[in-house]
Amino acid sequence: MAIRVYESRRRDVVELEPRDEGRISMYACGPTVYNLIHVGNARTIVWYDQVRRYLEYRGYDVTYVMNYTDVDDKIIERAKIEGIPPEGVTSKYTQAFEDDMSALGTKPASLIVRATDHIGDMVVAIQGLIDKGLAYKAEGDVWYEVENFDGYGKLSGRSLDDMRSGDRIEPSPGKKHPVDFALWKSAKEGEPSWPSPWGPGRPGWHIECSVMSTRYLGMGFDIHGGGRDLIFPHHENELAQAEGLNGGEFVRYWVHAGLVQMESEKMSKSLGNVVLARDVIEQYGGETCRYWMLASSLRSQAVFSDDTLDDADRSLERWRTFLEAAGHALAEEAPAASSSYRRPLSDPGPEGTGAEFISRFLSSMDDDFNSAKAFAAIHDLVREGNRLIEGAQRGDEGERKSLAGLLEVFLELTSVLNFRLESKPEDSKLVGGLVEYLLELRESARSERAFERADEIRERLTELGVAIEDTPAGPRWRVSGTGQ
Ligand SMILES: [Zn+2]
Repeated sequence: MAIRVYESRRRDVVELEPRDEGRISMYACGPTVYNLIHVGNARTIVWYDQVRRYLEYRGYDVTYVMNYTDVDDKIIERAKIEGIPPEGVTSKYTQAFEDDMSALGTKPASLIVRATDHIGDMVVAIQGLIDKGLAYKAEGDVWYEVENFDGYGKLSGRSLDDMRSGDRIEPSPGKKHPVDFALWKSAKEGEPSWPSPWGPGRPGWHIECSVMSTRYLGMGFDIHGGGRDLIFPHHENELAQAEGLNGGEFVRYWVHAGLVQMESEKMSKSLGNVVLARDVIEQYGGETCRYWMLASSLRSQAVFSDDTLDDADRSLERWRTFLEAAGHALAEEAPAASSSYRRPLSDPGPEGTGAEFISRFLSSMDDDFNSAKAFAAIHDLVREGNRLIEGAQRGDEGERKSLAGLLEVFLELTSVLNFRLESKPEDSKLVGGLVEYLLELRESARSERAFERADEIRERLTELGVAIEDTPAGPRWRVSGTGQ
């Protein structure tokens, strides 16, 4: 058994054979921290979180490195607009990114690296490229000379002639070839800059990923991720820099995520055309948003519309309802979720109730992260589970056993996808409203000197796990978690 991935350079589905047995090294291009993250970029990061979780579930020891681009034209631009220093911009939007990602159920990468912490390494790499005849200096800038790297274009499958007419070319009088790209940009007045042999300036975007990924993962690491829109020029340039400088292969598997397509006519008016992850999270909740992002396979396009989000919402609701109903039907015999499920590739495969659903899930995810099929397996499991609930409630032993087996599988598969399936935020809003209302009744009972009734309300709430504290500003409450 092996996992297969679509590898962008070979343009083919190939078996994933890691550099070191049992270990996976992966790198994903993280955000440029200058604004709130767009839903499309957020999906890519959620998907790499899922790839990492799935590979861990399949028994790999995964080292996952992600970068934060914290030096860039866009950051400088934003600092001017907001009237704060560039570091203020990067710290603000780094925090915003981390908040959004956590709401989407992603865990931080094993190692997060910042461009500004590695400027010295980048200067050394750029000098190395000049020494190898792959880069040249022009008026304080340093450019990568694409014609001198044999194989420029092999990732994106483009020829230099195709690129010449492309639209993502930086114009500059100092360049020898229109496709040459900046390794070092000389500082302009008032911009953040670092010293270098070519004068004060800052690195270009592409060099940071080559330098930081190979610094922590070495050459020939396993998986390089990013959205499909990064293949050219960003990843093409990363490859040219790393392979040009170090020789050998930079990345074993280029695994690119599909993009988000906006279905604008059908899209919610409140969200507009550039959709921020934060707004979708606010409107639908982080878990629905994660479901929508993962329900389309890694490589497919995800269609953003009210319909697809509502669909995700309804699907999750079916899963929550099943979890709750099966839990009630089985009462104390209901299995509990484990915190760490593992199904290593060497595992002979599951047996017993629900085994077929695990098999379908595994074979779909092993097949280039085909989550659409994997989710269908979970929905079929739920359908079968729902049929058993009535019998289980009646006390039919056979049906109880089958239901418990299915519930166990359900907990495993949804946990691999990191769905917690807790009550929806609307429910907690409702609970909050009810608690507030009861506290108002208690206050009015006290003002009528009906202390017995007031105390009874307090006791009932305490029994339910609501801790109440009377303060000069009125009662405060929180769910203490000791109750039901
Ligand atoms: Zn990158």
